[in-house]
Amino acid sequence: MRRSKAFIPTTKEAPSDAVLPSHIFLSRAGFITQVSSGLYNFLPLGKRVLRNIETIVNEAMASIGAQEVELSFVTPVELWQESGRIDKFGKELLRFEDRKENRFVLGPTHEEMMVNVVRNRVNSYKQLPLHLYQIKTKFRDEARPRFGLMRGREFIMKDGYSFHASAEDLDREFTTVERAYKHILERLGLEFRIVEADSGAIGGSGSKELMVLADSGEDTIALCDRCQYAANIEAAVRGAKQEIPEAPEAVFNRFKTPNVTTIEALSHFFKVDPFYLVKTVAKRAVYHEGSKLVLFCLRGSDTLQEVKATNVLNALELLDVSEDELRESGLVAGFMGPLNLNTCKIIFDKDLKDADAMICGANEIDYHYVGVNFNALKNAEFADIAEVNEGDTCPCCDGTLSFTKGIEVGHIFKLGTSYSKALKAEFLNENGQSEPFVMGTYGLGISRLVAAVIEQHHDENGCIWTPSTAPYLINVMISNIKDEAQMTFAENLYEALRQEGIEVMLDDRKERFGFKMKDAELIGFPYTVIVGKELINGNIQLMERATLRKETIAAEHALKTIIERTVT
Ligand code: ATP
Ligand code: MG
Repeated sequence: MRRSKAFIPTTKEAPSDAVLPSHIFLSRAGFITQVSSGLYNFLPLGKRVLRNIETIVNEAMASIGAQEVELSFVTPVELWQESGRIDKFGKELLRFEDRKENRFVLGPTHEEMMVNVVRNRVNSYKQLPLHLYQIKTKFRDEARPRFGLMRGREFIMKDGYSFHASAEDLDREFTTVERAYKHILERLGLEFRIVEADSGAIGGSGSKELMVLADSGEDTIALCDRCQYAANIEAAVRGAKQEIPEAPEAVFNRFKTPNVTTIEALSHFFKVDPFYLVKTVAKRAVYHEGSKLVLFCLRGSDTLQEVKATNVLNALELLDVSEDELRESGLVAGFMGPLNLNTCKIIFDKDLKDADAMICGANEIDYHYVGVNFNALKNAEFADIAEVNEGDTCPCCDGTLSFTKGIEVGHIFKLGTSYSKALKAEFLNENGQSEPFVMGTYGLGISRLVAAVIEQHHDENGCIWTPSTAPYLINVMISNIKDEAQMTFAENLYEALRQEGIEVMLDDRKERFGFKMKDAELIGFPYTVIVGKELINGNIQLMERATLRKETIAAEHALKTIIERTVT
C-alpha cells in the first residue's frame, strides 16, 4: 500500500474520554473511530489487524476440527425465555420488535442459537462430538462501556460450542481447545496466563480464562511463585495458613468496647491480631422474586469476595446496605455479629469452621463478645467466601501467592447439560435412550484482543504491533521524495518485498522526515526502512519499532538483510 493513497486519518488529539493507551493510540493513529458510546468503526488499518487475528484463530480452529458457521445476529426472544437467560442478562440484552410485532434480541453470545441449530438435527451419539464456531459481531448494552475496544457495546467475538455424548469427551475437548487457545495467544506474540475462573451459578463444572498480562487489566490474578497455579481472584483459593498468630486467651464473655467499631480499632483495643476478630459484612442479595438481607462473617484479616458470595447464594447480585436498613433488622453498624440473631441468613467463611478464641460484635451498641467459637451454632452455613490475600499459601504447593493484573481475552467453559436440558436438546445414546448433549462453550474477544496487544505493547509515542498482528510488517520510508535515486530504490524495494509476500507500506508522501517518523511510530509498524541521504554511500537504515534501534545495512543486500531481520 502506498501511504499517499491510504486512508489513515491520524490526529494529534485523543478522544476526551480516552484514558488507556490502546484507546488513545488506536484512535489517534486512525485504526478506529467512535460512533457513539461503546460503538466503533474499524478503518483500514484496524480492519487489517482484525483480519490478522481472525486468520490465526481460524487456522487454530481448523487444526482441532472445529467447523465455522455464521448464525443470525438477530435472535428470537423465545430462545432466551426457553433458557431462562432473558432475566440473567437483563438490560444487557438489546430487545426490539419487528413490524409484525415479533420480539428479538441482538445476540450477546450464541449458546441458545447454537443449541437450536443442533437440536433435532443431530440425533445420535454417532454424530458426536461436534464443534461449531463463528467469528461474529455481538451486542451487549453494557452498563459502563469504556476503554475503547476493551469494553464496547458492539464487539467481535469468536464463539465456539461443542456437543458431546459424555462428560469425559467434553473434558478431552476442553483440554484440546485450551491448547489451541494457548497456541493462538503465542502466535499473536502476547504474554498471558490461563487461569482458573469463576464458573458462575449457571451450573458449569469448570472454566478457565485467558488473561493477557497488562497493568491496565480490569482483572486481578493470583499467581503462585513456585508452581503453575493461577486463578482469577474471583475464583482463587488458598492453602492452610502457615504461621498462625498467637491466640488471645479469654473465656466466653460480653465485653464493653466503647466506640470501637472497626477491625483496626478492635485489634488495637484488644491487642489481638485481626486473624482472631470476626468481620461481619451485611449485603442485600437480589433475586428475581425479591431480595433479602444476608450477613457474611470472616476473619478480620480477610475481605469478602463478592463473586464467591453471590454464587454461594445463587443470587443475581449483592447490594450494599444502609445503616437504616440494618437498624430495621436489629443490627448495629460497627457492632454486628452472628450470635443471638434470627432476623437474617448468616454465611460463615470456611476458615471459621473450627476457629476458637474469636471476638465478634454483640449486636448491641458498644459491646463485643470474646472467647467465641461457632461450633455450637446450629444451622451455621460455612462456605468459601474470602478473597485470597497476597502472601497467602498456594492451594497446590507450599509456594506463595502474589497478584498481577490481566485483561480477560477469552473464557472457556464446561457447560455440561444446563443448556441442552433447558432447551430439550437430546440425542440417542448407544442403548437407544434419550440424553441431553454435554456441552462446552469457548469465547475469544477478537476486538478486545486488538486493544490488548496495544495495552501490552506500546510506548509514549504510540503502538508497537507484534509481527503477526501488525497491519503492515514493514514501512519503507522515503526521506526525500524529490531525490530520484531514493525514490527509485524505495519503489524497487517495496515491489521486491511485496513479491516475497511481505505486508509492506511505502511512505511516499511529500512530508518532512521528522513528521513521517513520528507517524510511523504512532502507527507502530514493527519495522521501518529509511531510505535517505546515506543511499549515496550505499547504505539504508532499518529501525525496529520496539527498541527504536537503527541498524545501517548495505543497500546492495537490502532485500536479503531485511528479510533475515524481520521475517521469523
Ligand atoms: P467481562 O467480565 O469482561 O464482562 P464476560 O465474562 O462478560 O467478560 P464472556 O461472556 O465470557 O465475557 O465473553 C467472552 C469474551 O468476549 C470475553 O472473554 C471478552 O474477551 C469478550 N468480551 C465480553 N464482553 C465484551 C465487551 N463488552 N467488549 C469487548 N469484548 C468483550
Ligand atoms: Mg461481561
